[in-house]
Amino acid sequence: MELSRFSFGLGDRFGLQGKAQLQALLKAKQQGVDITPVWNKSHREHSITGTKPADVRIEADEAVKALGYDGPYFVDADHINLSNVDLFIDSSDFFTLDVADFIGRRASEEQINIFVNKMDKHIGMLNIPGIDAPVEITTEDAERIASQVLLAVNQAGKIYRHIKAVKGDGNFITEVSMDETDRPQSPVEMFFILAAIADESIGAQTIAPKFTGRFNKGVDYVGDITLFEKEFNEDLAVIDFAVGEFGLPENLKLSIHSGSDKFSIYSPIKKALKKFNAGLHVKTAGTTWLEELIGLAASGGQGLELAKEIYAKALENIDELCEPYKTVIDIDRDKLPSVEQVKRWESQDYVNALKHNQSCDSYNPDLRQLLHVGYKIAAGMGNTYLDALKENEDIIAGCVTENIYDRHIKPLFIN
Ligand SMILES: [Zn+2]
Repeated sequence: MELSRFSFGLGDRFGLQGKAQLQALLKAKQQGVDITPVWNKSHREHSITGTKPADVRIEADEAVKALGYDGPYFVDADHINLSNVDLFIDSSDFFTLDVADFIGRRASEEQINIFVNKMDKHIGMLNIPGIDAPVEITTEDAERIASQVLLAVNQAGKIYRHIKAVKGDGNFITEVSMDETDRPQSPVEMFFILAAIADESIGAQTIAPKFTGRFNKGVDYVGDITLFEKEFNEDLAVIDFAVGEFGLPENLKLSIHSGSDKFSIYSPIKKALKKFNAGLHVKTAGTTWLEELIGLAASGGQGLELAKEIYAKALENIDELCEPYKTVIDIDRDKLPSVEQVKRWESQDYVNALKHNQSCDSYNPDLRQLLHVGYKIAAGMGNTYLDALKENEDIIAGCVTENIYDRHIKPLFIN
C-alpha cells in the first residue's frame, strides 16, 4: 500500500460527519487535485468519546460508498503504542507509531557505538542538496543525537514488526510520530532519526516531527514564521537526501499534526512543497467537532441552547478537560466569557466567538481552544447531543465541508 503525494487526516469525534468531510476532498478533486482521505482517531479520543476503532472503519466505508468515491482511503490508528495497538489492528490500515515518550531516554553505549560507526561517512561536513551551507557534524553530535533518539526508533521498530506480523508486509501504511515532545527536532536530528528508521527496516511513508513554534489545537500557529519556513524547507531537503542515502520509501513525506487552522504557515508550506515537488500529510482532528458546535449555534433554538450548555459545563470542568492536552493548548482564562454573558448570546454572537475568522473582532481563540478540548462534555450528553446533530444535519454538514475545503485545502493545495 502506498500513500499518494497529498493526503489529509480527518478526525471526527462523534462519527457523523464522514460524508461532509469527504465532500471537501471531492471538491478538491473537481479542481484537479487528488488528496487521499485518512480518517484518524487516537486511543485518547476513543476513550473520551466511548467509541471503538471499528466505528471509524464503518464511518469511512459508509461515507465512501454514499458518495461513490472510488479512490484510495485509509483508517489511521493515531498515536498508538505497543500497549494499545491490538485494539486497532483489524480495523486500521494506517498506523501512527507514537514514540515521543522514548525520545531522550538514553540508549545503551553499545547501541550508540554501533550506530555512530555506521554513520561514519556522514560525520564531518554534511552536504545536503537544498540546504545552502554544509552542516558540520562532529562525532560528539552524532553520539548525543543517537543517545536521544535510538531507543525511540527502536520502539517504533517493535510496534512496526508487531503490526507486520499480523497484517502482512505491505498491507498497511506506517507513520512515525515524535510531535508530542517538549523540544523541536532540528533537520540534522531528523537526518539521524531517518537513518535509524532505515536501520530498523521500518517502512515509514510519513514522519511527524515536532516543528518549531506552537501547534495549539484549533488555533493559528504561534511562533517565528520565518524560522518555521527555513526548518520546513530543510526538513524536505533532508527527507529527499535520506531517501536516496538510506533506501527509505520513495514517497516518504512529512506529516503535520494539529495541522488544522495553522493559516499563517500554509503559504510557506505550499511554496516549499512546490519547490521540492514534495508531498504532505496534514493531520486534523477537533476542527470538525467545532463546526458541529458552530452549526448548532447557528441553527438557533434548542441547538443554540445546547451549544451554550456545552460551554457552561466546559468552563466548569476546565482543569479536567485541559489536563490531557496541556502541551497543545494555551488558554488565557481571563479572556473567557462568563456563563452569564454567553447565556445572553444570540446565534451570531456564539458563531462569531467560535468561528476561526481572525478578521472578526469577536473571534475568541481562548474560547475556541476550551471548546476544542471540551468534546468530553458533548460525549457525556450521549443521545441528546447526537440527536441534535442529526436534526441539524444540513447546516452542520455545510459548515464541516466549508471549513475543510475553504480554510484548509484551498490555501494548502489549490492554486
Ligand atoms: Zn500528533
